[in-house]
Amino acid sequence: MHYDSTTNLVHLGPGQTWHKVYSKLSSLPVTVLGGRVGYVGVGGFTLGGGLSYLANMYGVAADSIVDAQVVLAGGGIVNAKDDEELLFALKGAGHAFGGTPFSPFAGFF
Ligand SMILES: Cc1cc2nc3c(=O)[nH]c(=O)nc-3n(C[C@H](O)[C@H](O)[C@H](O)COP(=O)(O)OP(=O)(O)OC[C@H]3O[C@@H](n4cnc5c(N)ncnc54)[C@H](O)[C@@H]3O)c2cc1C
Repeated sequence: MHYDSTTNLVHLGPGQTWHKVYSKLSSLPVTVLGGRVGYVGVGGFTLGGGLSYLANMYGVAADSIVDAQVVLAGGGIVNAKDDEELLFALKGAGHAFGGTPFSPFAGFF
């Protein structure tokens, strides 16, 4: 995971739980729309929509994904931001469209 202060994006790699993400973000003046229980995974939570404690202010977590690296069923790897329909599809029904090992999220102050 790393935070890019120039773009205000938090880049999350594969296999993370929210506890690990929050631990790393705790020293930074930024957070993301993550899970309310630490051991829930970033992948399933976000690709399924994702209701965080900040949902009433900022909406669902899936809408804060600005890109995702996607491994397609055929083995190809694409960036969802290059395919508007794929990026849209990932935001709530993501499990159905391939594995997403890497996603930059919008950061919230
Ligand atoms: C105790 C608890 C508290 C919860 N709290 C909340 C909450 O506050 N808000 C909320 O919105 N939801 C909440 N949930 C629901 C949770 O978001 C879903 O269960 C979610 O699917 C968990 O994702 P996971 O990655 O941990 O699970 P997994 O079981 O690992 O994955 C769930 C699904 O996502 C797929 N998947 C996982 N990672 C990826 C990936 N990187 N790429 C593609 N597909 C992937 C899996 O194949 C599977 O189909 C909670 C669940 C539990 C058990």
